[in-house]
Amino acid sequence: MEEKTLSIIKPDGVRKNLIGEVIKRFEENGLIPVAMKMLHLTKKEAEGFYAVHKGKPFYDSLTTFMSSGPIVVMILKGENAIELNRKLMGATNPEEAEEGTIRRQYGDNIEQNIVHGSDAPETAETEIVYFFNSLEVCSRP
Ligand code: ADP
Ligand code: MG
Repeated sequence: MEEKTLSIIKPDGVRKNLIGEVIKRFEENGLIPVAMKMLHLTKKEAEGFYAVHKGKPFYDSLTTFMSSGPIVVMILKGENAIELNRKLMGATNPEEAEEGTIRRQYGDNIEQNIVHGSDAPETAETEIVYFFNSLEVCSRP
């Protein structure tokens, strides 16, 4: 099934100059960007995005990290885009991520793990509208 998912190259990915590398992996694996922008979240905006994790011990540190520098936010389109993106990213903890995945290869630790990807159709929809309005989403074959 063709799906859309939200992908973020986190501040560590941008600092490490991995924008091109990450997008290349997506394109090579059938995930096509249909919307894209670079922005620097405020702490409040990062808290809004990660509201689902409010109350968890890592929430404050995570949202400080996510607002520590520019990020690249994208909508990716493709067959099973949500699951495929999660597969290319690898497990949350880079040490537990499969060999060859983005997080395994480039992530420093369980927090600073280079990329975000939606985990289900409902969260993909919520996350997409958090960052993009309909005029910013392109149609691509
Ligand atoms: P994922 O990004 O793989 O969907 P989660 O939704 O569980 O993982 O967590 C969101 C983000 O919060 C992670 O990508 C990571 O940056 C951070 N995080 C998750 N668990 C921890 C933890 N135990 N300690 C520090 N940061 C964490
Ligand atoms: Mg998640």
